[in-house]
Amino acid sequence: MKVRNTIETPKEVQLSLVSSLFDNSSTLLKGMVVHILAYAVVFHKTGDPIYLLVSLAFMVVFASRILLFRRFARADKSTLTVADIRRWEIRYVIGAASTAAVLGIGCGYSILVYEDTFVELASVAVAMASMVSIVGRNYGSRLAVNLQTFACCAPIIVGAFLANDPYKAVLSAMLIPFMLTTEAMAKSLREFLHENVVASRDMKTIADRFDTALNNMTHGLIMLDTENRIQVINRKACELLHLGERNRLKGYDLDVALRYGVRHTVVGGSLPGMIQRQLTQLMDGSLSRAVMTFSDDLVLEFSASRRPEGGVVLIFEDVTARASAERKILHMVRYDSLTGLPQRNHFAELVAERVSEQEDIAAAALLLLDVDGFRHVNDTKGYTAGDRLLVAIGQRLQQLAHGEVVGHLVGDQFIVFGTNRDGLDSLIERLRRIHADLCGTYELDGMSFRVSFSAGCMAVDPAVASMEEWQIKLDLALFESKSRGGGRLTFFAEEMDARYVERQRLQDDLRDAIENGALSVAYQPMFLPDGSRIACCEALARWIHPTKGSIPPNIFIPLAEDMGIAAHVTHLIVDTACHAAAAWPENVAVSVNLSVQDLRTDTILQVVRDALSRSGLSASRLHLEITETSLIEELATARSILEALRAMGITIAIDDFGTGFSSLSYLDSLPADVVKIDRSFVRNITGDSRRLKLLEGIVNLSRQLDLKIVIEGVESKEQLALINQHRCADLIQGYVYSTPQSAEDISNLLERTRKKGRGGRAYVA
Ligand code: C2E
Ligand code: CA
Ligand code: CA
Repeated sequence: MKVRNTIETPKEVQLSLVSSLFDNSSTLLKGMVVHILAYAVVFHKTGDPIYLLVSLAFMVVFASRILLFRRFARADKSTLTVADIRRWEIRYVIGAASTAAVLGIGCGYSILVYEDTFVELASVAVAMASMVSIVGRNYGSRLAVNLQTFACCAPIIVGAFLANDPYKAVLSAMLIPFMLTTEAMAKSLREFLHENVVASRDMKTIADRFDTALNNMTHGLIMLDTENRIQVINRKACELLHLGERNRLKGYDLDVALRYGVRHTVVGGSLPGMIQRQLTQLMDGSLSRAVMTFSDDLVLEFSASRRPEGGVVLIFEDVTARASAERKILHMVRYDSLTGLPQRNHFAELVAERVSEQEDIAAAALLLLDVDGFRHVNDTKGYTAGDRLLVAIGQRLQQLAHGEVVGHLVGDQFIVFGTNRDGLDSLIERLRRIHADLCGTYELDGMSFRVSFSAGCMAVDPAVASMEEWQIKLDLALFESKSRGGGRLTFFAEEMDARYVERQRLQDDLRDAIENGALSVAYQPMFLPDGSRIACCEALARWIHPTKGSIPPNIFIPLAEDMGIAAHVTHLIVDTACHAAAAWPENVAVSVNLSVQDLRTDTILQVVRDALSRSGLSASRLHLEITETSLIEELATARSILEALRAMGITIAIDDFGTGFSSLSYLDSLPADVVKIDRSFVRNITGDSRRLKLLEGIVNLSRQLDLKIVIEGVESKEQLALINQHRCADLIQGYVYSTPQSAEDISNLLERTRKKGRGGRAYVA
């Protein structure tokens, strides 16, 4: 690299070159002492006052140069301009050249005047020694080197030539290549210095930039060597990990530094094992990213990359806000917002956790609980009350099943996973107790709810945790409980699977049958007690299954109700029955059974209106039968629907009266015209006088309430006689008079009855 002249050379390079000139005041002192001493000795030997003058000149020059050096040392370098630096250089050169000139003059004079070996040797030796050191001390200034060399050599050469000695002249001529060499050496040294100054200046620039970049990163950065000692750490890293002053940390073990930070501000104590593990994995390369929770307020996400020369660079950022948002979301996903209990998926996770944590589990079992008739709580008491009830159930369940895993599945289903070290029997006993104790009264805001639960239960093998499979089986067991009337706990049995499949198939077939109008209707007449006339016929649904034959309505009607398609059946039967009845004599009515579902919405009103208008049947000839249970469940809506139907002129009958819970107590408040007393009241009247009394009681009460009485299920003549003797019935329906008949048969029967007129035998049996 070529040394640029001072105008091009950057100021700081110039300054460092010039400063190098002023660096060596001690060599200067040593040199001066040698010079003065040498010439003092020469003076002593020769007594020539010229040498005294030379010594004095050295002293004067030395003193002024020392002053100059001092002034330079004190000068404020940062404010120096290029011109100032140049001035300092020239001042230096003047002093240096003066020293060289005095040396040269002393030496030239000795060569010219004396033929004394000592004098000449001393002068030449001192001059040459100084010349040799010129490069070392003055390479920083070309001018200084050149001028000094010239100032020293010129008088020597002149002295030697004037001495009239051709050998001396030749010898002094040899100083010329010496001068050139000196110049060249100084030049290469200057270039070397220049390069170094520029390079270190560039390095400093790069280091400063790197430092700025590092300390303005939004991420923390720690560079570790192969021994996991900190080589580089940025400001953000110290801030995030509470490590204090970063310059102090260089060379520290990361572990030690972290523990320091942790002890002082983060979690107080040693690093949690989890963090320790994650850090080790990051550093040995088995993990490239990790989220570490130092405390609730400090969650950092680390990523590590291995350095090619060994060691690791850790980069991390503060993800506390993100982590807490994620925690919240996760909580929302995991726990039911209403009851605060784990939802299905999280319940499965907790079960898996429990199984893996407890190694000495002897038995494990699941209990699935479903609130009986919960929908009606919502319908009758409102959703808020329904929600509160679920919360209360959740709380009670948690207390009862303390220590077990409790979850809340959809809607009104709760689940418990119980484990036990003693064996299955005691575990099942505990689950049974939980089920029994969960049932009962719940008092909420002045309202009282009697709640029962259908439950499915099964023992499971914790070694093969498969929540999905378990759930299917539990559902089957629960379903079994439900279909046997609620409030029960059923254990899963393998045959339930087959039953379930069978039931699914039957449901599909029933759906097809309804869609294709494959249901038919049979009619069972209700006679006046003496059998003289048919007053009404009850329409009863019939389903002849293509392969299974006749399926009783006791099977397929509840099935349709479960499937939520019972209203379709009603629709079909109402239509068919109205149509058939329209062809019957005017004084014969038709009675159609309604399902619970029909009383939940008012669509039934339109269905009935349409059926009447299409068939032309008068509303007074249509009876609708409802069970007490459907009334109790849907009281408000049901009541208004029934009122609307009655307002249309339709007769409402309470079916299966006496089989519901609280029949007698609010018989008077029911919007009905007829009660059909269930056949269970008839069954034993001939053998048990108390049964007859009971029947009479119900009949009398109903009469007082202006209700007409139909007695169902009268099978024998004895029963009929007894009923008539006590004048219990307004109408009789039973095998004693007629079984359900096809539409055609009923038409024929009615025709016969009409022809025979009053007093004739009108019944079939
Ligand atoms: P239900 O409304 O009480 O109908 C009377 C049932 O008692 C009929 O059975 C009938 O055949 C039977 N029965 C009549 N007289 C006697 C008797 O003297 N002795 C005995 N043991 N039984 C007698 P069915 O037709 O099997 O109907 C059973 C139940 O199915 C009905 O009971 C009713 O609850 C339901 N059902 C039938 N058709 C329909 C319908 O179209 N819609 C709805 N929602 N339910 C229906
Ligand atoms: Ca009925
Ligand atoms: Ca009945």
